[in-house]
Amino acid sequence: MKMYCWKCEKDMKKVKDDFHGFVVDAWKCPKCDEIIYDEKSIQPILQYNKLKGVKKALTVTVGALGKSKIFRIPKIAEQLYGINKGEKFQFELESDRITIKMR
Ligand SMILES: [Zn+2]
Repeated sequence: MKMYCWKCEKDMKKVKDDFHGFVVDAWKCPKCDEIIYDEKSIQPILQYNKLKGVKKALTVTVGALGKSKIFRIPKIAEQLYGINKGEKFQFELESDRITIKMR
């Protein structure tokens, strides 16, 4: 797929760029530095920014599968971080919270 700068009609280069703190696919004009973000990559981020509350906290409910307790990864988180089956996470246990980190 090719993108052309709407200002100078130059062939834009495919780059990775920061969009609200997330790395996304984008195209950059070598002449004027105009950046166009990949629509599909920024969609979940825009949605995320619209989430109510400044903490961006999502509530998940614990369920059960056999004897294990499980919870679902919210769709928005799945899209934002590109989480797939088999992905490994690190649970950091603290006295008052659990932090989940991608590995
Ligand atoms: Zn340009």
